[in-house]
Amino acid sequence: MTLEKLAPETRNLIDGELVQASDGGRFENVDPSTGEVLGTAADGTRADMERAVAAARRSFDESTWSDDPAFRARCLRQFYEGLLEEKEQFRSIVVHEAGAPVSLTGYMHVDEPIEMVAYWADLAGRYEYEKPMTDVPFLGRPQRRILRREPVGVVGAITPWNVPFYLDIAKISAALAAGNTCVLKPAPDTPWSGTHLGRVITEKTDIPAGVVQIVASSDHLVGEILSTDPRIDAVSFTGSTRTGRRIMACAAETVKKVFLELGGKSATIVLDDADFARVCPSASMTCVHGGQGCAIATRWLVPRSRYDEAVEMMKVAFEGWNHGDPTNPANLQGPQISRVQQERVLSYIEKGKAEGARCLVGGGKPEGRGFFVEPTLFVDVDPKMTIAQEEIFGPVLCVIPYDDDADAIRIANDSPYGLSGAIHSGDEARALEVARRIRTGTLSINGGQWFHVDTPFGGYKQSGIGRENGVMGFEELLETKVIALPGRTD
Ligand code: NAD
Repeated sequence: MTLEKLAPETRNLIDGELVQASDGGRFENVDPSTGEVLGTAADGTRADMERAVAAARRSFDESTWSDDPAFRARCLRQFYEGLLEEKEQFRSIVVHEAGAPVSLTGYMHVDEPIEMVAYWADLAGRYEYEKPMTDVPFLGRPQRRILRREPVGVVGAITPWNVPFYLDIAKISAALAAGNTCVLKPAPDTPWSGTHLGRVITEKTDIPAGVVQIVASSDHLVGEILSTDPRIDAVSFTGSTRTGRRIMACAAETVKKVFLELGGKSATIVLDDADFARVCPSASMTCVHGGQGCAIATRWLVPRSRYDEAVEMMKVAFEGWNHGDPTNPANLQGPQISRVQQERVLSYIEKGKAEGARCLVGGGKPEGRGFFVEPTLFVDVDPKMTIAQEEIFGPVLCVIPYDDDADAIRIANDSPYGLSGAIHSGDEARALEVARRIRTGTLSINGGQWFHVDTPFGGYKQSGIGRENGVMGFEELLETKVIALPGRTD
């Protein structure tokens, strides 16, 4: 497929201006499907981040942005229109810098996130920020109370590289809609998905200077300022559980609100009455985007009574799975994001083999350039093995046999994570009963799809804190104030 020629904005956005790094530094952006350098991005420094935080603070404290929902709605609508005009450029960016398969860009990587901005524009304008509560007596006298929701303040947003455009958009738009100002620090592997937003904001919207800052940097610790600086009121982070812990610890010093979307190790449970011929071939979807999705089900739990039948169907699906060049619309799996990630995934595969799991398909890297890993199917996996417990973030599926529904629920919940999952059954009531007992933030039954801008998304356990998207996600970015007045006695 022919993609638009890359022409990204590569400067950072600070206080309304597109700027180079304070020391002139730049860092390379590598195409993971070829290993070649695509170009460079401004390498934000500590001084740049300090200036970005100061601008966001000042604009929150001194402008009318936080008090003017109608203006915010109008600005977000302009942002939406501007993103539509730049849609093909963003498609080209995410395919090249994130290795996202082009056929997925029509969904979660580009088209859908742009549509989400229209939702945030609408919600900013129609949300009821202030409403009366029911009157109550205090020492025999009536009391009135007003419940008021106000923006939390300056939001520090930190994003990963796997669905960079979506996550950058989700964090900026929700924060702005709720009346906050923000500083976004995109992942170093995918800087342009973030920096190109700066051009749209400055050229196509009336969003005032200082309301949004975008600071790309090759240095993770530049981002850490967002979790330590007292001028930041809340940190909204998506990334690994390891980094999430660090951010939470850093944020504790100034008691910031911390919102975390972290890793996952979700399970699909195939109940014994499921339509195996329909369900089992879809197991290869674990490899979509190289398995680099936090909510992908990377453990499939299959009844021992129908295990061989299921494994055979999965094997055929894995062997026939299209993968490779992300610009080819036939491929739903491209490369891993970097050499480091490729090696990390391959080392997990070796660990799986060493611990006794049977690698039925794949297990290596294909010949040629780029950071690819073969679609890999492990069977006879014990739930306690490393590959069944830790997040691999690669095209690797673990198939685990179970004895009965209770056993399947026990194995599914035997994880430090609790992000998502799926259940397949011929009996919806039975599947619902199982779903109610799985400790995760989202679940799909028989292919039902939960992903939507108004679905609150987030995890149980070490998969995170809080919910993103929907009214619930919006309210995470608001403070709550109650104002009491004496009741009227007339
Ligand atoms: P990562 O944690 O390594 O990095 C994420 C971001 O944090 C990057 O921008 C990085 O520069 C920054 N960072 C690193 N150290 C930091 C520090 N000390 N202070 C502040 N910022 C710091 O994650 P990754 O490898 O980029 O992304 C993959 C992970 O993201 C996986 O674990 C995946 O499950 C998770 N993820 C979760 C969700 C979700 O919604 N739950 C969505 C997508 C990805």
